[in-house]
Amino acid sequence: MIVVDNLSRSFGGVFAAREVSMSVAAGEVRGVIGPNGAGKSTLFNLISGHLRPQSGTVSLGGTRIDTLPPHRRAELGIAIVFQGARVFPGMSVLENVAVGAHARTDAGALSAILRLPRHRRGESEIFADAEAALERVGLADWVSRPVTALPLGQQRRLQVARALTAKPTALLLDEPASGLRAPERQDLSRLIRELRADGITILLVEHDVAMVTSLADRITVLDLGRVIADGTPDEIRRDPAVIAAYLGKASA
Ligand code: ADP
Ligand code: MG
Repeated sequence: MIVVDNLSRSFGGVFAAREVSMSVAAGEVRGVIGPNGAGKSTLFNLISGHLRPQSGTVSLGGTRIDTLPPHRRAELGIAIVFQGARVFPGMSVLENVAVGAHARTDAGALSAILRLPRHRRGESEIFADAEAALERVGLADWVSRPVTALPLGQQRRLQVARALTAKPTALLLDEPASGLRAPERQDLSRLIRELRADGITILLVEHDVAMVTSLADRITVLDLGRVIADGTPDEIRRDPAVIAAYLGKASA
């Protein structure tokens, strides 16, 4: 479904992605792991269109998408939750999700908030979508609460809800569990499994090796911008290159 072929991107001469190739099947949960600075976020941003590659291609369902801007890729079904994504303080939970959805429609988030007449119809649809997405992630009881009332685990679910308003076929989650406590991680794992059961393909960057091996069908391991291993969680756990580059360090 998502095919990344020989993708390279450097910053000031240092490769953040170096000839990265990866093929993700529809309905799969793909874990992406690697040490800090390995190029995980760069890879996700190259897939979502927030970064352009210097060489290589990205295809979705057989169609090249690597020259398309992010909003076009979003229309084709790719949604991303950025690493460290923040909420907008001073707004309700519902408004937070609606503003994200509205920004993507290109109609201008500000006019939605100001309730300008020409956007009124579009606006009500956006709020309905936002509410449905919040229900989907289990935040129905929180819609009118100030967003700052949400514990961190719920804020992460809100970010997922915002991404779901685009009705994605592929959802890229960049460290959604960072900073979460064990029960919140388990809740998030459950949500990811449910989304997969709904037919959404999921790409997940996650540092918690136990969490990613329990969730992922396959794992891609990056180090210094390169793919150093790609396989089932069992294969990855046993891979000497992975142990040397990553798992060894993590447990040291
Ligand atoms: P990861 O997500 O695996 O921690 P990143 O993709 O964020 O890694 O970063 C990979 C490398 O690329 C790092 O060396 C980082 O400093 C560099 N890098 C990433 N984004 C930028 C940028 N916008 N400008 C300059 N260097 C960047
Ligand atoms: Mg990162």
